Amino acid sequence: MPRALMLHDDTPRARLETLDENQLPERAVRVAIDYSDLNYKDAMAVTGQGKIVRDYPLVPGIDFAGTVTDSTDARFAADDRVILTGWGVGERHWGGFAEAMRVDADWLVPCPQPLSTRQTMLFGTAGLTAMLSVMRLKEAGLAPGDGPVAVTGASGGVGSWAVSILAHEGFEVHAITGKPEQNAWLEALGAHAILPRADFEARGRPLESTQWAGAVDTVGGQILANLLAQMRYSGKVAAVGLAGDAALPTTVMPFILRGVSLLGVDSVYIPFDRRRAAWQRIAALPNALLSHMHVEEAGLDDVTDRSQAMLEGRTHGRVLIDPRR
Ligand code: NDP
Repeated sequence: MPRALMLHDDTPRARLETLDENQLPERAVRVAIDYSDLNYKDAMAVTGQGKIVRDYPLVPGIDFAGTVTDSTDARFAADDRVILTGWGVGERHWGGFAEAMRVDADWLVPCPQPLSTRQTMLFGTAGLTAMLSVMRLKEAGLAPGDGPVAVTGASGGVGSWAVSILAHEGFEVHAITGKPEQNAWLEALGAHAILPRADFEARGRPLESTQWAGAVDTVGGQILANLLAQMRYSGKVAAVGLAGDAALPTTVMPFILRGVSLLGVDSVYIPFDRRRAAWQRIAALPNALLSHMHVEEAGLDDVTDRSQAMLEGRTHGRVLIDPRR
């Protein structure tokens, strides 16, 4: 009988429970979960912020990797290694903070060789989203020789993978962070320069002197507005997150006078083919990138505490969840 972290609409909100098999959702594929991980959205769901969860009880966890134990869908069979990210899992559907879960076959991607299920969750939704951001920027025409690329929230999950992947692809990465104590680690990930977040927080002018050829922004708000004002002619910005603010206090000036492009990145509902292509690109990255990633390993018992820490900016890199720990 699988153990799961269950969210309830009263206190205590998050409880570790043992489920009967017949309590699992009636979905085609049962997966024994090897690893999940903690994302910003998970931290919000677990602590009850931002109305991520509307129907209770719910097992949170927006992504996981594991091994199929049984399937009524012809696309999957027992022993297949699979990844799930997005599709509202861990928000509207029961998710990955459990030892096993039943899910729709449409939501699964085969685990690409040579990655282990643990390695896929070191990337997780964060690494997938970073890869999708890099793909979006490159498809829009950004190339390594174009000039510096800024990454905000650089010490976070998406940010640190964006620094690492962009540097690997030959871009000159400028990491913007509120954690000066992580400067050396960000340099080890491949950052060419580190800039304090505070330099980007004050309200700026609609157009500033030009600096960036590209940017990956995970924080939104005034910081994104200031980046837009600093983009070089024809600069490209991937808008990924709202860890700072969902608002965007900008003007049309960067777009109409400098031809700047603001490119939306969504990892939740991207179609299967693009999802699989992004995972294949992740699987082709050298192992060395994984060895530089900072990983904190936690069990289901630790999720509430680590969620609070993440929302308070006290985590960096990735928080891997081992449900059997
Ligand atoms: P993390 O908590 O791991 O990283 C967020 C980082 O943002 C922090 O480490 C910190 O980096 C920075 N930050 C935190 N608070 C603030 C603040 N108040 N102002 C400015 N910067 C801040 O989260 P994730 O990497 O998991 O997610 C980052 C964002 O991306 C979230 O908003 C998340 O919802 C979104 N996201 C979107 C996806 C999509 O499909 N579009 C998919 C995955 C995530 P530092 O200290 O280095 O500045």
